[in-house]
Amino acid sequence: MLTKAKQNLLHYYGYESFRNGQEQIISRVLSGKDTIGIMPTGGGKSICYQIPATLLPGITLVISPLISLMKDQVDALDQVGIPSTFINSSLSSSEYNGRLRELQNGDYKILYIAPERLESPDFVYQLSSIPISMVAIDEAHCISQWGHDFRPSYLRIPNLIEQLPNKPTVIALTATATPQVKKDICHLLQIDESTAIVTGFERENLSFKVIKGQNRLDFIKKYVRQNRNESGIIYAATRKEVEHVYEVLQKEGISVGRYHAGLSDKERTNQQDLFLNDELTVIVATNAFGMGIDKSNVRYVIHYQMPKNMESYYQEAGRAGRDGLESECILLYSAQDVQIQRFLIEQSTENIDRQKQELQKLLSMKDFCYYEGCLQSFILRYFGDENPKSCEKCSNCLDDRSSIDVTTDCQIVLSCIIRMGERFGKTMVASVLTGSKNQKVLDFRFNQLSTYGLLKDKSAKDVTDFIDFLISEQVIGMTDGKFPLLYVTTSGKEVLLNQRKVMRKEQMTVKVLTVNDE
Ligand code: ADP
Repeated sequence: MLTKAKQNLLHYYGYESFRNGQEQIISRVLSGKDTIGIMPTGGGKSICYQIPATLLPGITLVISPLISLMKDQVDALDQVGIPSTFINSSLSSSEYNGRLRELQNGDYKILYIAPERLESPDFVYQLSSIPISMVAIDEAHCISQWGHDFRPSYLRIPNLIEQLPNKPTVIALTATATPQVKKDICHLLQIDESTAIVTGFERENLSFKVIKGQNRLDFIKKYVRQNRNESGIIYAATRKEVEHVYEVLQKEGISVGRYHAGLSDKERTNQQDLFLNDELTVIVATNAFGMGIDKSNVRYVIHYQMPKNMESYYQEAGRAGRDGLESECILLYSAQDVQIQRFLIEQSTENIDRQKQELQKLLSMKDFCYYEGCLQSFILRYFGDENPKSCEKCSNCLDDRSSIDVTTDCQIVLSCIIRMGERFGKTMVASVLTGSKNQKVLDFRFNQLSTYGLLKDKSAKDVTDFIDFLISEQVIGMTDGKFPLLYVTTSGKEVLLNQRKVMRKEQMTVKVLTVNDE
């Protein structure tokens, strides 16, 4: 059977050999054993059910969370010659009935549905009239409440499997399962955990960077300009932010698109297609972009803001370098991001336990940003690899920039914050330090403070960047809310008492990915 699988791999896809994990998963499935496969994004999970689907009698039912992608998946399968279809809410009732009939007639090998379909008892009943020999569960972490993307309808899957007249083989696939999530998937689907096939999460061709305390827009402008021939994705947290970065890059003359939920379906599809076809080099997007998108030559993924957990981060960053070539994943960190994400979690209507869990995940994300060891090892350990080796190419492994002692400047900023009563934000503190004559400064008589103008040789922007850096060093804290106020933290007080030094690395230089550029 495996020989046949290899033949079909070549016949349908033109690939000579299986990738790590694919062969083990496929041979288990073909011998009728329920299987869980955990492979990194871009590892080639789809083939793990598509090849068996070509060899098994009857139909493979694929449960996949994103309706918007079904059509693309089906089109791609049609192109390689594997007859497939989908049933979702976009179909009229006559189309729906027509497809059911065709499925009963055996016109297709693969049927895609969204989990929400399983909420309809009628639909589940109709499925029993179709010869289903395999059920493939894509993004299987959605079944677990511990996962980052829990979809309650996934919990209906075990029930569906039970109701089908002939017990199908089950294959569950995901890229983001922490040990706890893996356990949960196996428990819910009654798959023996010890048989799970985990290829490891390592993506050898990705190098990770976390950049703190630098002006993010400046960094992006410079980076994108210097790599203007390379395809990249920039993730921002909100639509507003996406629009802002998009406009800035457009002004820079970059071939850039944008993608977020505020655009019409048509516009989104259009931007996505242009990017996929290399007609746009860069896309600025919210996390709505990218699920299931298979663009192989993405050379970098930049996170303009920190995502809410490591699972989302690794999934998004993992969209770089699917072709196996060296690619970069850069996270631009600012302490404010943690507050924004915390605020969003606390505002969500989810139950208290779930919120606690989300806050815990957020803390791991923040720990990643402050981690000083190998970043890739941090990620791999998070997902359950016990002894990852250092990657020797992340920003921490390679960091040989010299550090400059900035304790004196830091003390100036801290004492200014204290003298201003810890009642003001970044901009106002920077105005006072740079000796601004702005009316608000004068109204509060801050021009009479001893710290007024002490940093007047620097621009206000340099000072706010420096304050950001001090926030990321946790010597300055920021209150929650829309207008965060600065205060001096316990470690900040140690700096003021000369019990602690503050060292700042020289500015991170931008690496040029393209050789023949500018
Ligand atoms: P995942 O779902 O794991 O993120 P995909 O199934 O979309 O990944 O596969 C990622 C890319 O790798 C696709 O372009 C796919 O065609 C390619 N691919 C998968 N298996 C192989 C293989 N055995 N040899 C070469 N390319 C492969």
